[in-house]
Amino acid sequence: MNTFEQFESEVRGYCRSFPAVFSSAKGAWMTDEAGERYLDFFAGAGVLNYGHNPEKIKQALLGYLMRDGITHTLDMYSQAKQRFIERFNEVILQPRGLNYKFQFPGPTGTNAVEAALKLARKVTGREQVVGFTNAFHGMTLGALAVTGNSFKRAGAGVPLSHAASVPFDGYMGEDVDTLSYFEAMLHDSGSGMDKPAAVIVETVQAEGGVNVASVDWLRRLRQITADHGIVLIVDDIQVGCGRTGSFFSFEEAGIVPDIVTLSKALSGYGLPLALVLIKPELDLWAPGEHNGTFRGHCPAFVTATAALTFWEDERLQQAVARRGRMVQVHLEKMAAKHAPGAQVRGRGLIWGIEFSDATLASRVSKACFARKLVVETAGIDDQVLKVLPSLTINDAELQYGLDVIDASLSAVLSGADEQLAQEEALALAETA
Ligand SMILES: *Cc1c(COP(=O)(O)O)cnc(C)c1O
Repeated sequence: MNTFEQFESEVRGYCRSFPAVFSSAKGAWMTDEAGERYLDFFAGAGVLNYGHNPEKIKQALLGYLMRDGITHTLDMYSQAKQRFIERFNEVILQPRGLNYKFQFPGPTGTNAVEAALKLARKVTGREQVVGFTNAFHGMTLGALAVTGNSFKRAGAGVPLSHAASVPFDGYMGEDVDTLSYFEAMLHDSGSGMDKPAAVIVETVQAEGGVNVASVDWLRRLRQITADHGIVLIVDDIQVGCGRTGSFFSFEEAGIVPDIVTLSKALSGYGLPLALVLIKPELDLWAPGEHNGTFRGHCPAFVTATAALTFWEDERLQQAVARRGRMVQVHLEKMAAKHAPGAQVRGRGLIWGIEFSDATLASRVSKACFARKLVVETAGIDDQVLKVLPSLTINDAELQYGLDVIDASLSAVLSGADEQLAQEEALALAETA
């Protein structure tokens, strides 16, 4: 029994799928304590969009630390925060014609979601909020109430109230327009649905199984929420910061949300940082009404500011589009050859493949790890293999990882890996 099994709570999760003890990492590669290298197709669930320890960002952080730049200020003003706000405006918001105020909540995604939901309730004076089937918004009570997964919901131990779930795009099959249902519920005073303060949506449901909302669906959702005076919150925590190609995932649809939540890749370095972007007219917070000790961590502001250089020109965006097509073409070919009936879905550099055999994705993920590739599953039954490399991975590394997925799928389908595992277990039992 190792240290973790002995002392760390049973709640630990990812380490069960990827049981290595990691010690260093660079770019698309992670190294464990024995010196084994693993190619990373998980990128910290979308935290490491620019790879592990990106040099440019690391240098900015080291410089700040070496000159004793201030680390902690609660939410007092700091030069690091000022630079971040100014650069984020110049590089991200102004070129896109966006005008938002910045709220720095506690440093995790769920903090940002809680703040967004609270503010929407305050602004509208309504209690109910609406989320979508298979949504994932975080583990605190407010965010959990708009999260679909029944296992995670049950973990709350109290009723999750003041929230309703409506079908996401495609939930009822390709031919059913799920927003017509939502709109009918809103219009009809006999529907039993209270008029919501907010609708919270992921443009691509990442944890929920890489479910992609169409551009038309997102535009209609914007129209419906605007018509009814409902605050539209786009949770861009996982698929923002360039994951879908553009900085914000909603740019392709040309919509402007009322509130946007960002976290995961925002700091660009894996340091915790979260941001709530608020339309100025909705910024009705009273001073200190929502707070937290770690609201904007100065070293994370420094790395987040350095990360913005990736967005000063089109190069990264174009690379993401090209690499995304590589992944799509590869997965579609693989599906056609080895797994007929499998569905390939995604945008930018988030892709999922859902096999008709729901157990296959987990088995392939395991077989990939045996071949030193870290790739996670998603969806309510872990039925989707989720390909989420860093945006800066080079084409050769990407191709190598995709080939490993192919080889792993073939091994699983032929039963080779399972047989090997059985033999190993037998050999272990004999020596014991
Ligand atoms: C990860 C995630 C969250 C929660 O972020 P934490 O930092 O884990 O609290 C919320 N929304 C989405 C879309 C996420 O992917």
